[in-house]
Amino acid sequence: MIAKEIRAQVGDICRALRRDGLVVGTAGNVSVRVDDLVAVSPSGLDYADLTPELVGVHRMDGTAVAAPLRPSSELPLHLQVYARTRARAVVHTHAPASTALSCVVDEVPASHYYSAMFGGPLRVAPYATFGSDELADNVAGALHGRAAALMANHGAVVTAATLPEALELARYLEYVCDLHLRALSTGLPVRTLPDAEIERVAGLLGDYRQSAPVGAHA
Ligand SMILES: [Zn+2]
Repeated sequence: MIAKEIRAQVGDICRALRRDGLVVGTAGNVSVRVDDLVAVSPSGLDYADLTPELVGVHRMDGTAVAAPLRPSSELPLHLQVYARTRARAVVHTHAPASTALSCVVDEVPASHYYSAMFGGPLRVAPYATFGSDELADNVAGALHGRAAALMANHGAVVTAATLPEALELARYLEYVCDLHLRALSTGLPVRTLPDAEIERVAGLLGDYRQSAPVGAHA
């Protein structure tokens, strides 16, 4: 079983996402993996009411160990990400800048050096219906060697070693996407940083690098 303190963090992170304007209502979802169990936020419950007891725990095949409520519709996405990366925490948002950018680009280039936090330029996973296995597959693929990805016409996903780290990265992702959107909106060409500089910065930001699912893919 996953400790109550860890399940409590799922609710805390959901409330922080809403407080920070990264989700509206209950549009985001949050999970954490401990060994081969995954605790995930339930579907549609007001985050204010999300107690540790209401955070469901599932096996990697999706079967419930203890889940008093229906799990997030994006449970397949969370499970696929855990199956294909070294992530131990996954945060999915509909944050405005990330989502706007997901509607207009196929990749978020390294316009700000913070891109190094995520392993470099970010992919935009092709659109598929929310909750579908196809979307889960697209997103897990887009995360190859990266700690985050956008989801076309939908939102963003961030992975990390812990939930607090995932929340922090989600904030930085929204910031980076907001900057890029503003740069694009000038209509001028956006200057981007070369791979070598992103690698250098990644080295300097080693702590973030450790939480990225780099090289963990089949
Ligand atoms: Zn969503």
